[in-house]
Amino acid sequence: MSVISPTAAYIHLPFCRRRCFYCDFAVFPLGDRLLAEKSGTVDLYLDYLDREIAIAPSFDRSLSSVFIGGGTPSLLSAKQIERILQAVDLRLGIDLDAEISIEIDPGTFDLAKLTDYIAIGINRFSMGVQSFQDDLLKLCGRSHTLADIWRSVELINQAGIENWSLDLISGLPNQTIELWQNDLEKAVEIAPPHVSTYDLIVEPSTVFARYYQPGVTPLPDDPTTAKMYELAREIFTDKGYQHYEISNYAKIGYQCQHNRTYWENRPYYGFGMGAASYVNLQRFTRPRKTREYYQWVEDLVLHQGAIACPVVSPAESLLDRIMLGLRLAEGINLTEIASEFGTDKVEAIATSVAPHIKPGWVSISGVANTGDRLYLTDPQGFLFSNTILAQIFAQLDER
Ligand code: SF4
Repeated sequence: MSVISPTAAYIHLPFCRRRCFYCDFAVFPLGDRLLAEKSGTVDLYLDYLDREIAIAPSFDRSLSSVFIGGGTPSLLSAKQIERILQAVDLRLGIDLDAEISIEIDPGTFDLAKLTDYIAIGINRFSMGVQSFQDDLLKLCGRSHTLADIWRSVELINQAGIENWSLDLISGLPNQTIELWQNDLEKAVEIAPPHVSTYDLIVEPSTVFARYYQPGVTPLPDDPTTAKMYELAREIFTDKGYQHYEISNYAKIGYQCQHNRTYWENRPYYGFGMGAASYVNLQRFTRPRKTREYYQWVEDLVLHQGAIACPVVSPAESLLDRIMLGLRLAEGINLTEIASEFGTDKVEAIATSVAPHIKPGWVSISGVANTGDRLYLTDPQGFLFSNTILAQIFAQLDER
């Protein structure tokens, strides 16, 4: 495997007003009253980010996407975000037409802030709505209300933002099919060009894990969450959205280019606490706690940017390619896989998916000039993706 230049960078800003009850991300709760733009804590974090970015390995290609995620990046001022973008541009270069995304949460920005973000080059906004039910927002520990959502949508429209996305969560406690349908209908009424829908996973270290068990009331059971998935697909595709990835829908021309980097298993930079990167064939995740991250950056500077972590083996790379690629509607290219990893690997994949072709979970198509593609069908294949992947991996393991 040869080293390819990364063309995408993810920057993690961990600051949130408080931690939502289902969230296990690397987050630093600031509290409701503290203004991030005046916080020494935030500025110290930005100093460490600067130091990390300044010694990142650079290549001959500049970046075609930057994603500022979190956390709640919209707690930071445009000046603070600009500082990060300048550091990235200085070290790695950002293409003039790069997709530059930021995650925003309802209630954390006004029109002036959005306008300032646009002025510093941000051209894609991803808003964490999660639900259109006040009760569910409260139950999830979200720090915004339904009124904040509507106000935020109004601000996005007033700012003239075209390229934006809205996130929703299904499978929440007490969420019924009717409530979910209401969320989906609200989303299509607002009509953002991109929507992400995530099925709740109760992570062990969260507040939710203390109260809820997967599949047990008040969490919806598996047949209900499957119905929710099918309903989302039905409503969005009916309104002209492409279901281009397991959890993502987009109008034509609005797929998230940055996230496609991950699904296509291409290399990317990651900066900040808990951020993952895939550079020089090394996959690496930074420490998830602030103090440990700062210490790690200091060590990184001492070692002139060298990250101690093994390179991804061809076998691991193949599994990554399959696992990530099958999230996309177009699936994986078997001809490319045969030439990179060997025809025996493609034979193993074909053997493992053979039982799923007849029931219509998996499909293989020959497309001129692009070779045979293997993809999961929508919605059945996507719904059973974990089962299919486990069987592919087991078959490859036997070879
Ligand atoms: S706002 Fe997002 S990142 Fe912050 S705690 Fe909630 S879910 Fe986690």
